[in-house]
Amino acid sequence: MDPSLEQQLSQLYQAMESPPGANHCGSCRTCCTAAGLSRQNVTDLELAVLGEAGPEFARYAARERHPDGQFVYAECPNLGPEGCRVYELRPFSCRVFGHYRASGTTLPSECVYLNRDREFPASDYYRAVPGALRLRELSRDFQLRRVPGGASPGVDSGGVGLNLEDPWDRALEQVGRGELPELPTESAAESLFAAYVRALVAGELGQHAEALKHYQRVVAECPERHDLLTFAGFHAFQLGQMDQAEGYWLQSLRLFSGNPLTFSFLGYLYSHRQQWQMAADFFGAAFELEPGQPVHAQRRDEALHRNRSETE
Ligand code: SF4
Ligand code: SF4
Repeated sequence: MDPSLEQQLSQLYQAMESPPGANHCGSCRTCCTAAGLSRQNVTDLELAVLGEAGPEFARYAARERHPDGQFVYAECPNLGPEGCRVYELRPFSCRVFGHYRASGTTLPSECVYLNRDREFPASDYYRAVPGALRLRELSRDFQLRRVPGGASPGVDSGGVGLNLEDPWDRALEQVGRGELPELPTESAAESLFAAYVRALVAGELGQHAEALKHYQRVVAECPERHDLLTFAGFHAFQLGQMDQAEGYWLQSLRLFSGNPLTFSFLGYLYSHRQQWQMAADFFGAAFELEPGQPVHAQRRDEALHRNRSETE
């Protein structure tokens, strides 16, 4: 995983060691058992940081059960005779447990924090629990780096869902509905996810220079995202930056050779350069991947025709 994300998560964890205080109690350990917790949210980023301990912990946190109803992990697989075996890396939810409590939930009766916790309405989670919003940002950046369709190791926690109070999530949801959102004023230290949403929105508005600027940052930090390389190339092409577009698209194909759109875009680019045989090859490859789109075959045949006329 990206070392800078791991470092940023570690900084967040360290910041939490100051008030409300390190949760060193660990005496009753009820919160480290499936029966003691009603649920435990954990992000894919935190599971990745847990490394080998991640997949089993994910199954525990999901409160997975055997067919007979028994918990697969009645207690956390990271709990050893001396307490938490991954204490330095324990997830956010383990760190805030007991200190903060969503209304409508209860702490175990034996918990030392009972009646000393800070209660908050569940809908206020990101406002009420310090660090929760930062974890959300880091988790989204982690998800953005994932290659679409890539299988995640072990059980997926489901990552972070949409929070419509968050301007970036709200914007993404609006784009999904075909609306054009208003975005916050740009600032220097924006998250990668913010850059991604800005790129999408600028793309929808046909603002190719703006879209390319943000995609450039996103693909530099997510070099495996072949789909985003294809989009970056599209905006470079629209701006007449042919070499850059070609570079992005060829890189995208090196990572994943199953996207007919990328082949087709390269077909256009080589047509534009009047490299007709190349254009025919790329349109032909797009047609092989997408035989239900006769337009690829038409363009391939036109390019072949141009190639023949120019060589005769
Ligand atoms: S990771 Fe550690 S602190 Fe968290 S539930 Fe497991 S044993 Fe408890
Ligand atoms: S339930 Fe409360 S007292 Fe028991 S280990 Fe968890 S935080 Fe500590």
